[in-house]
Amino acid sequence: MRNKMRPQEVIARKRDGGSLTEKQITSFIDGVCDGHWADYQISALLMAMFVRGLNGGEQDLLTRAMLHSGEVLDLSDIAKPKADKHSTGGVGDKTSLIIAPIAAACGVAVPMISGRGLGHTGGTLDKLESIPGYNVNVSTDEFRRIIKRCGFAMSGQTADIAPADKKLYALRDATATVPYIPLIVGSIMSKKLAEGLDALVLDVKTGSGAFMRRLEDSKKLAEALVATGRNFGVKTEAVVSDMSQPLGKYAGNGHEVFECIKILRDEAEPAMGPTRELSIELTARMLVLSGIEKDIEAAKAAAVAKIASGEALECFRQNVEMQGGDVRVCDRPKILLARGLFECVIEAPASGFVAEINTFSIGNAMVEVGGGRTKAEDGIDHEVGFEALAAIGQEVREGDPLCIAFCRNETQGGKIRKKLTDAYTISGESVLRPSLVREVVK
Ligand code: URA
Repeated sequence: MRNKMRPQEVIARKRDGGSLTEKQITSFIDGVCDGHWADYQISALLMAMFVRGLNGGEQDLLTRAMLHSGEVLDLSDIAKPKADKHSTGGVGDKTSLIIAPIAAACGVAVPMISGRGLGHTGGTLDKLESIPGYNVNVSTDEFRRIIKRCGFAMSGQTADIAPADKKLYALRDATATVPYIPLIVGSIMSKKLAEGLDALVLDVKTGSGAFMRRLEDSKKLAEALVATGRNFGVKTEAVVSDMSQPLGKYAGNGHEVFECIKILRDEAEPAMGPTRELSIELTARMLVLSGIEKDIEAAKAAAVAKIASGEALECFRQNVEMQGGDVRVCDRPKILLARGLFECVIEAPASGFVAEINTFSIGNAMVEVGGGRTKAEDGIDHEVGFEALAAIGQEVREGDPLCIAFCRNETQGGKIRKKLTDAYTISGESVLRPSLVREVVK
């Protein structure tokens, strides 16, 4: 029997700065799921939480109630450690497609439930769907079968996984209550904990393309996520990584899958180096937390060896086959890059050093040409993309290309040219390259 308290009573307690009890929090989440709470009452409580705050205990109670609003995967019949990676999102942030097959090749089971891109950031499901035929809507039984066979499966969130989050996230989005750490923790961790994991690595982005731009805020979020994972008995670590520029060589769905397959084929180009490096760092942390490797250096070497031997690519190929995708992309990744697109080349307006890149603007430019969506129901163009040609710290001469946007046509290119040009700040003084890994939170 679900407990039903009067919403007004719960809202008033938080409005007046009180702490909520377990009964009040579960009554709230039950009411979100069964319709007992109206949207305006849910929104009022979210705002009261945002303004008055939630303490650590309330944050855990909220996460627990959201987690148990749906199904928790039982993968106990898979005799391997279960681990996953979650990123808070960025531009060109494509590491999931590299991490999952390497970790699987090393003996970890990876039940990766991912999302779609929203706003300026991309989403793993959209990237995967640029592989012709790839199906991201697999049933729980099929998901389990795929993990058993090739070590990892990638799927969208079903209606059974943390359903309270779907409703709460939509209302937070509409009521300006997204950027509050306890609500973010409840949202992210309720979905990840539903995967039934032993270990979790979080990639919390920081910088102009991140959801949390300031390092102090990203660090606080990382600490809160790690503490929550631990409180729920999951070995958890977070890496705070750089998102002050797009990650690696490409952004845009098909382009990003191309970059991932090049890395899995051990054919990474120099501009893909940061994507490869961050993927190996995050995989290595998953391997250590899962007990597969003793220390980070050994784990990194194991990850590199699985790329060099082709085993990680084989895991990826098996997964693509089982999820209905065209496996030819593994042998000829170039087929993911459309021909005949208009190349909008952005040139340096002056000589100097690339000092800053407004990565948020670059992500938005991609959305404008159809590579991302502004509303959940929008369709997307998997073929448009962005190529980074100059990174922060790099010296450029006036007229050197800084980046290329691959657009459907010249008109589209014209619309985003100024936004992309303005995204780059060129300075007369030399600038240090930002380090890829800013902090590790254990
Ligand atoms: N990502 C989520 O899934 N939830 C949030 O609240 C913020 C980012």
